[in-house]
Parts: sequence; C-alpha cells; structure tokens
Amino acid sequence: MTPPCQRCGYAHSLYGSTSAIGRFSSLAPLYRADYDGSPLRATRAQAHADMCDHYATKENPS
Ligand SMILES: [Zn+2]
Repeated sequence: MTPPCQRCGYAHSLYGSTSAIGRFSSLAPLYRADYDGSPLRATRAQAHADMCDHYATKENPS
C-alpha cells in the first residue's frame, strides 16, 4: 500500500508511476513519468516529481 502523497493527494509510488528508457542500452537510462507528454529526466526521482506535478495540476481527475 502506498499512502496518499501529501503534495498531490494521489497514491503514486516511485516505481509504479515512472518508466526507465534505454535501460538495456550502453547509454545512461532516462526516466519519464507515465503520462502523455511527460518529459525525459535523468533520474527516476525527477520523473516521479513530474508525475506528482501532473496529478497536482490536473483540473478534472477521473
Ligand atoms: Zn504526489
């Protein structure tokens, strides 16, 4: 169980809401939050923060 985020109110986990890009290549992996148009980030923590922002700014949660 992931407790609701104190910032956005949604229960989103670090590994459940982000995807690693290029994990199996020789390049350093990039990460992005699991929503359309999310930016690529160098760290999973940054992608996770994007997911939080996405939830926090969503006008019509469904
Ligand atoms: Zn959050």
